[in-house]
Amino acid sequence: DYKSRVTVVGSGNWGSVAAKLIASNTLKLNSFHDEVRMWVFEETLQCGEKLTDVINRTNENVKYLPGIKLGKNVVADPDLENAVKDANMLVFVTPHQFMEGICKRLVGKVRGDAEAISLIKGMEVKMEGPCMISTLISENLGINCSVLMGANIANEIAVEKFSEATVGYRDKREIAEQWVQLFSTPYFVVTPVQDVEGVELCGTLKNVVAIAAGFVDGLDMGNNTKAAIMRIGLREMIAFSKLLFSSVRDSTFFESCGVADVITTCLGGRNRKVADAFAKNGGKRSFDELEAEMLQGQKLQGVSTAREVYEVLSHRGWLELFPLFATVHEICVGRLPPSAIVEHSERKPKLP
Ligand code: NAD
Ligand code: 13P
Repeated sequence: DYKSRVTVVGSGNWGSVAAKLIASNTLKLNSFHDEVRMWVFEETLQCGEKLTDVINRTNENVKYLPGIKLGKNVVADPDLENAVKDANMLVFVTPHQFMEGICKRLVGKVRGDAEAISLIKGMEVKMEGPCMISTLISENLGINCSVLMGANIANEIAVEKFSEATVGYRDKREIAEQWVQLFSTPYFVVTPVQDVEGVELCGTLKNVVAIAAGFVDGLDMGNNTKAAIMRIGLREMIAFSKLLFSSVRDSTFFESCGVADVITTCLGGRNRKVADAFAKNGGKRSFDELEAEMLQGQKLQGVSTAREVYEVLSHRGWLELFPLFATVHEICVGRLPPSAIVEHSERKPKLP
């Protein structure tokens, strides 16, 4: 009987939780090999040991998800090519800025019949325009790529608190069903939606809204202001997604990947937390510095996404249509003070 083999490319905070979810299911499902390979960007810990060795010895990612057992069938592998070579189901979950390099290294190294899914919230901007990470993966590797996004703060799912997620797929419903089966647990409920661009843009753009929400928190502006910023942000997410891809559906924004992810990230995410500290410091300490100090090696996606979105807006002459997105970038680079988030975002955008 044919059995699928799963490899997770990435082992950060969410990558480790994804491996745990998947590993609990491959043990139960006959159509999968038990073992889940997890590629680790190797590093030496303060104790002098390699992270991969510690994960394989203790069954814990002591740096990015301390205190959580991943499952004995998770095998950490520092060799990217070796980690992917036998897998027909590839799960990509690294900070988005590393994916271009990872894709280049993987050209010609993955199985031709492999299916991919991206859990990565972010995008790349090239000369030709924006490129979603799922597109980067499918174009470089010549394989189909779905996405999984949602209101998914990793540390909460790690301790098995209930949450929902959305799988976005292009056309093969049966592939989406396989991904749903691989990720679903009683505490992690996954719904498939045939709108890969809409789902991925939700996950990407909400990180910019979360930075705005963090500024509002840092300036102590209160709940009403924060709700207003979330509403305006969601409105810009919808408009931006539809301008880029006319196929994006309104209903996608009411799935977990849409409004629910905006809410959870603006309440409890890392982007919110670091933006709060940035505003409290009056913009005097850079995001890079605060990220390094506050996140122990974990990475923010919102600041670079704000820059990427800004590039798209300025190239296309859309800056005035998206005052919140544009203002977040201007604040991040120090051209505007954090307080500008409200004064500028409330300007009535001339959205279509
Ligand atoms: P993370 O923020 O914990 O990032 C750290 C990871 O990056 C580590 O595995 C580290 O080894 C790796 N890394 C550092 N330098 C690298 C390099 N040069 N090349 C390759 N890898 C390198 O990662 P994460 O939380 O797993 O996030 C991955 C993606 O998942 C992001 O797009 C994020 O938006 C998304 N996501 C995160 C969460 C969450 O709660 N953490 C939830 C949903 C989605
Ligand atoms: P942060 O990266 O801001 O922590 O957001 C995590 C997330 O994507 C929750 O769904």
